[in-house]
Amino acid sequence: MTTGNGPEQVSHPQISQSGTRLQNLHRRIIACRHCPRLVEHREKIGENKRASYRDWDYWAKPITGFGDPEARLLIVGLAPAAHGGNRTGRVFTGDASATFLMAGLHEAGFANQPTSDHRDDGLELINAYMTAAVRCVPPGDKPTVQEQRDCLPFFVEEMEALPRLTTVLALGQIAFQACLKAMSQRSGTAVKAKFGHGVWHEMPGGLPALVGSYHPSPRNTNTGRLTKESFIGVLLKLRDELRPDQERR
Ligand code: SF4
Repeated sequence: MTTGNGPEQVSHPQISQSGTRLQNLHRRIIACRHCPRLVEHREKIGENKRASYRDWDYWAKPITGFGDPEARLLIVGLAPAAHGGNRTGRVFTGDASATFLMAGLHEAGFANQPTSDHRDDGLELINAYMTAAVRCVPPGDKPTVQEQRDCLPFFVEEMEALPRLTTVLALGQIAFQACLKAMSQRSGTAVKAKFGHGVWHEMPGGLPALVGSYHPSPRNTNTGRLTKESFIGVLLKLRDELRPDQERR
């Protein structure tokens, strides 16, 4: 299987329908080579590949956000996985975290299907958009502070390009901190909140509300730290909060 790394792959179908600002942003993200350590790492993974994916033409570039450009809900992870987003070229696609996340999003009505396997699988998000705080896969899933800082402007810009955004769901502590930094940068004043699973924070100055959740990685789902029931509970609360708006659309 190939991923087709040509320029026609710059925008996903939902984004290309909306055009303009997100498309332009996504072109710049995909072309970025700012962090030497991450560029080397993402490309090396693409060359070496995992044996079970040896027929894949790995994406091995930065990943963009994906979903409904008119979304009220933004879902934020830390960074693409080595053989997930870095292989498939779409955030939360092709790995165990994606499987757990998408089953939940589908059950809560935010996705048209319960799976996220590859870029041409027909997935569409409904009133939701997902992205990552850092766009390139980091060694050990740990970006440096400087790498997080350098990638933040893309995240700020992507938030600003979602005109109907009211609520952000941060998956994991680092994504939660990135959301606080992005919101601080956007508002020009430091915003603070404490991470907690399912804890909802209203934010000042017209910023979106911020909700935390444990990340749906195997490290959390296999140990029982994050159960399906607990995750669905957070998503259903989000759905109920956003439902009146969904029904008006
Ligand atoms: S992590 Fe962000 S800033 Fe660094 S190379 Fe990737 S896209 Fe560019």
